[in-house]
Amino acid sequence: AAGAPAANAFDDRALDEELRPSRLADVVGQRKVVERLEIMLAATRMRTEPLSHILLDGPPGLGKTTLALALAKELDVECQITSGPALAAPKDLLPYLTNASGNSILFIDEIHRLPAAVEEFIYPVMEDFRVDIVLGEGLNARTINMKLKPFTIVGATTRSGMLTAPLRDRFTFREHLEFYEEPDLAEIVRRNAIKLRTKIDDSSALEIARRSRGTPRKSNNLLRWARDFATVKQKEGLITNEIARQALAMLEIDVLGLEEQDRKYLRTIVNVFGGGPAGLAAIAHTMNCPPDTLEDEVEPFLLRCGFIQRTPRGRIVTASGLNHLSG
Ligand code: ADP
Repeated sequence: AAGAPAANAFDDRALDEELRPSRLADVVGQRKVVERLEIMLAATRMRTEPLSHILLDGPPGLGKTTLALALAKELDVECQITSGPALAAPKDLLPYLTNASGNSILFIDEIHRLPAAVEEFIYPVMEDFRVDIVLGEGLNARTINMKLKPFTIVGATTRSGMLTAPLRDRFTFREHLEFYEEPDLAEIVRRNAIKLRTKIDDSSALEIARRSRGTPRKSNNLLRWARDFATVKQKEGLITNEIARQALAMLEIDVLGLEEQDRKYLRTIVNVFGGGPAGLAAIAHTMNCPPDTLEDEVEPFLLRCGFIQRTPRGRIVTASGLNHLSG
């Protein structure tokens, strides 16, 4: 490949599996969420009932899939995985429902993208583990009622605001995942360096953590890149602070972890829309980028940095956002 790959060229979900902690005890950070899940697990074990349905929301790469798989592991049950966009019609959901063994977990990613017909089909499933299937049409139509084994739905969403109230209410437990603090990300980097059989010193682990936009998936990707860089540039393949800095500089990730796409978003609002307010669709159109990508992957971290504001009239770049751009 020519030149340094863009930072998000590493966002390959298949690579997630290799570094995913499998037990709840190995999940770093998100202490409050994990503690509440542990209570639920303990109660579930005592009552031998399925775990209540759980909704996890938060930006991509913060550990929603990881938590769902860890819950299944703790309960020693299987976890089936699907996603909102993959379930175009109720019939697409049926195999998962009939395959679900007692007390198992069905993980539905991007659950805010479930079509309305599937959503309605899922209500009786979540309430009484029952499906109503309509056979035939018109006068000959008959409804068949099928009983399912009790199981748990873990839904994940980057946009809990897009969920309808009836669906949201059917999740007894709703947890919001926040961006991670640097010490937690540094811990994830250190643990994953061991899994990848790479040596990294503490200051480099922190350097990678600092530039990961609060996101473990980014930390993993940067660690892999730093490892490749060290292998090529340094005899022992050790990731030293200097190597980490050079590797990150090559990806054009700045001191706060912002990538070119983040800066381009800020520059677009400033240069094209006079600092805002600017509508998301207009920004996306100018950047030639899907609005969903901006809303899911770019804006949450810029909001958290205080670099933008979302107002009813559109997005605004704040004084500190401007400062960062010119700095
Ligand atoms: P999401 O489903 O929210 O998009 P994932 O669960 O797929 O995110 O997480 C992406 C990767 O980040 C995982 O493979 C794992 O290596 C790492 N990761 C996420 N959360 C944690 C955590 N709390 N502790 C350790 N590693 C984590």
